[in-house]
Amino acid sequence: MTFADFGFDQKLNDGLDSMGYEKPTPIQEQAIPVILQNQDVIACAQTGTGKTAAYILPVINKMIHTDHRHLNTLIIAPTRELAQQIDQQIEGFAYFTGISSIPIYGGGDGAAWDQQKRALEQGADIIVATPGRLIALLAAGTTVFDHLQHLILDEADRMLDMGFYDDIVKIVSYLPKDRQTLLFSATMPPKIRALANKILNQPVEINIAIAKPAEGITQEAYVVYDEQKGGLLNHVLKTHRWSSIILFASTKETVKKLDAAFRRSNIPARAFHSDLEQTEREEILRAFRNKQINLIIGTDVLSRGIDVEGISMVINWDVPPDPEDYVHRIGRTARAETTGTAITFVNERDQRRFQSIENLIGYPIPKMPLPAELGKGPVYAPQTKRNENFRKKGRGPSRKRFRPRSNR
Ligand code: AMP
Repeated sequence: MTFADFGFDQKLNDGLDSMGYEKPTPIQEQAIPVILQNQDVIACAQTGTGKTAAYILPVINKMIHTDHRHLNTLIIAPTRELAQQIDQQIEGFAYFTGISSIPIYGGGDGAAWDQQKRALEQGADIIVATPGRLIALLAAGTTVFDHLQHLILDEADRMLDMGFYDDIVKIVSYLPKDRQTLLFSATMPPKIRALANKILNQPVEINIAIAKPAEGITQEAYVVYDEQKGGLLNHVLKTHRWSSIILFASTKETVKKLDAAFRRSNIPARAFHSDLEQTEREEILRAFRNKQINLIIGTDVLSRGIDVEGISMVINWDVPPDPEDYVHRIGRTARAETTGTAITFVNERDQRRFQSIENLIGYPIPKMPLPAELGKGPVYAPQTKRNENFRKKGRGPSRKRFRPRSNR
């Protein structure tokens, strides 16, 4: 599936392009068509799955085709940080549409309060609010919801954990009954069900179940320039104890390049990708199971469902585009309650993706120091755009050809 399948307005597609999104995530594939059809939704999805775009994109698309002079959409989120992040994403997607959004959250001085009050009264198209500040503004007599069409609750379970149940019910009492309501939550405890029964109308349920990495997997990451990856791979192969390895790369071109490099080494390795015939794939897996080869280099074709026992290490030459693929990739090791190691090489461009993985699994993955002979790597700073532009400017160490070496 691609974003073109949703039939979005060109102005929104331009925004999507500028954000660099290429392919919808599973929650986006499932939620967007339902939201476009004006149905209520209750979705179980965690941070890192792409849930924010799953509700923002269809809502913006609908808004492009309506008279947008009134407050159309209210998004409620538990914290100021999340409200800001959502607001920034809206700004990116809506850049070419003329649709505006404002964040409303506590803190700040009297001027911030006045500004938010004015913004509420004069109307932005979308408001992203934390419950406490919104209640305070409503109590001060600001009601602006006559034309509201969408209510979205993001991270609803966290809002209830923070004690916002009554505030949310109160806010909803100010809203028109004839509206579309979307509830997103990482978990579905009974109190979320109770809230959903109260405020949703025959919702479609969407559940994006995420497998967490098994506990026996030791996860490590190295923050590197592309040019350092070959040397780093040699270092990892030399310094870790391993019996069999899967080396993952995101494209078959990279897999083929790595395969060619291994052919010049004394490590028996084979490439596994979608260009191979089924019989060839089976033959490679058989040889791997029988330990005739110790290393497979593969794309994500290998990351799902292939059951080979006793893989001691997974190395990610790059960060997979879809955070869930990371969990699938590293799940090839430490099967059946054994232990294993998963090592990921993260270049500057992949840092944001890597952070999405950390968000998805719910903890940071340790960043290991580079071996001294490779020199300094990039700084891990996934929030900055600078890192993504860095390579394009052609900085960083000079390119060296990778030759695998083994001391085994
Ligand atoms: P969320 O789960 O909404 O917090 O999103 C997690 C991260 O994934 C954010 O940095 C988004 O910008 C990014 N993201 C969401 N959807 C996509 C997509 N279809 N393609 C690439 N990145 C995405």
